Amino acid sequence: MIATTGLVDFHCHLDLYPDHAWAVQSADVAGVFTLAVTTTPRAWSRNHELAQGTRHVRAALGLHPQLVAEREREIDLWECYLPETRYVGEVGLDGSPGFFESLNAQKRVFRRVLENCAQAGGKILTVHSLRSVKAVLDLIEAHLPPERGGIVLHWFTGTKNEARRALDLGCYFSINAAMLNSDKHTALLQGIPLHRILTETDGPFTRTGDRPSQPADVKLVTALLGRFYGLCMADIASHVRDNLRVLLG
Ligand code: MN
Repeated sequence: MIATTGLVDFHCHLDLYPDHAWAVQSADVAGVFTLAVTTTPRAWSRNHELAQGTRHVRAALGLHPQLVAEREREIDLWECYLPETRYVGEVGLDGSPGFFESLNAQKRVFRRVLENCAQAGGKILTVHSLRSVKAVLDLIEAHLPPERGGIVLHWFTGTKNEARRALDLGCYFSINAAMLNSDKHTALLQGIPLHRILTETDGPFTRTGDRPSQPADVKLVTALLGRFYGLCMADIASHVRDNLRVLLG
């Protein structure tokens, strides 16, 4: 059994497992620094309450772009809770076929998220950018200066040029196992320096073996990254912890 203590899962939906409290406890017992993202601000209070009793789990306040078509007005609630948290997500844009129609509403919401974070200062955001990388980066560039907040692009699937632009804007990238199984994405990784890398599972939306991934499964991502960068797993884990420390200032 490979130790999981000190690994980082910077994007996991702990409240979407059958037993939320158990999922939080398991992440904590595994010693995995886990960012529990949420998809609606209505989920914030319970996530925050469960995470507060742990050493390794923190909750993030989100409004998922795929829910904006039905829930745009919840941005008011999101704004009310913002002072309670340092972490924001899942937020961003989704330009894929099922969600393209709400793209203008998504942009309004994401812009408000960025403006509020810029005003507050010190927030860390985990950002969804499926089929919308250019628009996501345009909005970040216009509304959240790097010295006012940190951006982590989750499950990034843009081009090499878009990755370079994101790096110039100070963004980090959280990498999951599915990204490392695709040649297209491993090619992309070659342009991303190790000091901008974090790890994630995006559980339960990814699978490890025959079940939904859990935070402890981030050890697989860590091992695959080790192979990619030619380092041992412990060295990758230590780099990722350092990166997280720098990001958190
Ligand atoms: Mn997600």
